Amino acid sequence: MAINTSDIQAIDSAHYMHPFTDHKGLAEKGARIITKSDGIYIWDSKGEKILDAMSGLWCVNVGYGRKELVDAAAKQMQELPYYNSFFQTTNVPAVKLAEKIIKLAGDNYSHVFFSSSGSESNDTNIRMVRHYWTTLGQPERTVIISRNNAYHGSTLVGSSLGGMGGMHAQGGMISGIEHIEQPYHYGLAPNKDRDAFGIEAAGWLEKKILEVGADKVAAFIGEPVQGAGGVIIPPKTYWPEIQRICDKYGILLICDEVICGFGRLGKWFGSQLFGCKPDLMTFAKGVTSGYIPLGGVVIGKRVAKVLIEQGGEFNHGYTYSGHPTACAVALANIEIIEREGLVDKVHNETGPYLAQKYAELAKHPLVGGAETCGLVAGFVLMKDKANHVHFDEDLGVGMICRGHCFANGLIMRAVGDRMIIAPPLVITKAQIDEMIRLIQLCLDATLADLKKQGIV
Ligand SMILES: *Cc1c(COP(=O)(O)O)cnc(C)c1O
Repeated sequence: MAINTSDIQAIDSAHYMHPFTDHKGLAEKGARIITKSDGIYIWDSKGEKILDAMSGLWCVNVGYGRKELVDAAAKQMQELPYYNSFFQTTNVPAVKLAEKIIKLAGDNYSHVFFSSSGSESNDTNIRMVRHYWTTLGQPERTVIISRNNAYHGSTLVGSSLGGMGGMHAQGGMISGIEHIEQPYHYGLAPNKDRDAFGIEAAGWLEKKILEVGADKVAAFIGEPVQGAGGVIIPPKTYWPEIQRICDKYGILLICDEVICGFGRLGKWFGSQLFGCKPDLMTFAKGVTSGYIPLGGVVIGKRVAKVLIEQGGEFNHGYTYSGHPTACAVALANIEIIEREGLVDKVHNETGPYLAQKYAELAKHPLVGGAETCGLVAGFVLMKDKANHVHFDEDLGVGMICRGHCFANGLIMRAVGDRMIIAPPLVITKAQIDEMIRLIQLCLDATLADLKKQGIV
């Protein structure tokens, strides 16, 4: 199918308002039109091949072009495309998927609540934990503690939970959300011992609990590795200490596993890697590898028991909770992850290989704090890394680098001056080499550009 790029761009700019986009700025340039995909690659309407080191938006875990997922959707759509679970009804894919996810999550969990996205799932979390505490006769436990620079979605609850000032500034926040600082070692305390910093950063939670009053705090929420905030990988001491503090005050722990879940860190869930046992786990993205929208909450026994035995009706749900087609695709997706051993492959093979390559990348004069965890990785572009001097934020050096990536057939994301990747879990070692070569090339182009502009 021939696509007239400038026609589509004109209609795009006239009628399609993009998410998280400066629409005026985009209209001047015209959007890139992505037309097809295969494996870890996408193509644009001009026929250019691009290595997608972001898996779309952290979601295409099994890679593009997987026919099994198409077949699973088609088969389910022919039998029963849709039915709801409101009126004491259910459907087979939803039941099977709930059972499967509980097996992967482990003994601590018993139930799954389905939605269609990460944002909706975090709304579910907040309603669920507040309902939980009310049921237990402690309705004053309403406060949720989250972290600066966290990303928990873009609905009003999601953005309130998140720690992005630019989002809070548009549309405000719901009440009862508090934030603590993130465990960003390289950014906040590069000269401190990493593990000691992890304990200190977890301690900020206890300080906040005491400030708010332990009897008012319902839950703490955090991403095992902060994703959209720039791939902030916590010291290994952090999560066990967070768990200890939550236990000490009886506070529920929510891990937002929307990125970390389904193999991204080399375990089925990120919390399994970091040694904590959240009461609730948010999932979305990788559960279907993005082929169709699906999200949800994995519910620990502690919460499920109270909701089921004492809670009465939980006045909450979505039209698409347990959508049969989405659940059928998720089952087929998990089957691929299992059959191809992708979780172990990330843990034993591609994750360590990427770590080794990032250690080499760290020698580049622009690269500071290069770190990986499974198949997420990040570094920050530094003006003078020996003296830990960052670039002036207004220069938009991250966007300059992203521009060079875009021009050289690589999707790498910029968060401020942090450059981040999360490639599909099917990426091979040879493809990692190819990706690293592209990153090197884009870093060199960025450095040359910055020199030309007199920035370095
Ligand atoms: C993407 C993301 C969300 C939001 O998911 P949507 O499906 O876009 O609503 C929530 N939490 C985390 C950690 C995410 O990365």
